[in-house]
Amino acid sequence: MTKRFYMVPELNRMSREEIRKYQESKLPAQLKYCYDNSEFYRQKFDDAGARPEDIRTMEDLRKLPVFMVKDDERKSAEASLEKYGHPFGLHLCAPVENLYLTGTTSGTTGMPTFSYTFTKKDMEFLAPQIANRMALAGIGKGDRVAFFFALGIYATTMTLWGLRHLGALPIDIDARAGTDLFLKFLTLTRPTYIACTPSLAEYLIVKAPKHIGKEVGDFRLKGVLTTGEIGIAIPGIKKKIESAYGCRAYDYWAPCGNAPGISCDSDEYHGLHAIAPDLCTSYDDLVDPVTKEPVESDADGAIGEMVHTNLQREACPAVKYAYGDIVEITTKECPGCGFKGKRARLIGRADDMLIIKGVNVYPAAIKDIVAGFAPDVTGEMRIVLESPPPRVVPPLKLKIEHGKGIGKADLPGLAARISDALHNNIKIRPDIEFVGPEGLPKETRKTPLFEKKYEL
Ligand SMILES: [Zn+2]
Repeated sequence: MTKRFYMVPELNRMSREEIRKYQESKLPAQLKYCYDNSEFYRQKFDDAGARPEDIRTMEDLRKLPVFMVKDDERKSAEASLEKYGHPFGLHLCAPVENLYLTGTTSGTTGMPTFSYTFTKKDMEFLAPQIANRMALAGIGKGDRVAFFFALGIYATTMTLWGLRHLGALPIDIDARAGTDLFLKFLTLTRPTYIACTPSLAEYLIVKAPKHIGKEVGDFRLKGVLTTGEIGIAIPGIKKKIESAYGCRAYDYWAPCGNAPGISCDSDEYHGLHAIAPDLCTSYDDLVDPVTKEPVESDADGAIGEMVHTNLQREACPAVKYAYGDIVEITTKECPGCGFKGKRARLIGRADDMLIIKGVNVYPAAIKDIVAGFAPDVTGEMRIVLESPPPRVVPPLKLKIEHGKGIGKADLPGLAARISDALHNNIKIRPDIEFVGPEGLPKETRKTPLFEKKYEL
């Protein structure tokens, strides 16, 4: 029997080529719909000298220029606010009165964009997609999922639709309520899964015994679902969370509601599995993060910024939207679960990328190497920036939490070993400052990668 990875049953029986054909069969109608219903997209196609009906294959799509980056989306939102009195952008394709659910990113810097905006039809398509992804982590009817993120109008909330679709009960607690309340609700509601950022899952390991007199392993969870940061992808962090909680930790992802992916039930991390090729072409369309020129996207080991194009979306379909996520693609069959589609490892954000002596350096790659020194380090660190990125005048400054068993006399040797590993792998020789375990501030939302010493 073929294992079920995709929501649409027939996709599970298709070869990679047949899946590509399936995507291409959906593409022209989506592009035509966007052209006909949005002045933003009409302008973009016209500027590129392309007609939507000419884009029939993945190759045709890859040749189209990037239509939108985050800043264009913001401008599009400002323009629609001015012109039509709503913030959903000139790229909104459905009548505004047909909107059913909206979600935004944090909005702590600049104007928030409502990238997660859907009609009812969109949600009827997406809820089972999200459900299918969560089912791959073993969640089913009767499971209770303690869900700890910013709720309400925030993007993470759409996951709750998928959990309900599965027949699972979400116990959604707003992350702004704080970890004390979260732990209290965990003891009361006895969930079978928790969903939070990986750094929070790590933080609870230390916090639970102090606050409720229980180890996190005492919750007897079936799984820990994490998103929002590169965490589980780092072997030391995956191992630490799994051994403390006594269950599998999963990494799930869907930037702007696109490119849904999840890691599999395996001791090793094998990347985000692209389990919804019927939703978008995100894993098949990569560009250079600086030039936005296409890069080879079907090669094993391809690295580039993902470009999202939806295949069946009504409210705000993405078309050639480069959202800033840089990934490395794997095309080989997954050794962990046998999945034959593409897998991706998130290696950074285009706007987090640093350029040191002309070389592109991703903070996640630094964190990955540093975390490999656990238990001599805790895995927590910051990159100290003296001036705005991306250009950094060497040496790059790192603040690293050393582990519990490390004394002052051990630090110079540890610094030398970390420095050698970073030099051998990514050609940087940093300046390392150590702080004690838990010496760096923790956040209940995303833990920052940078400590910024400059004023904007
Ligand atoms: Zn797998």
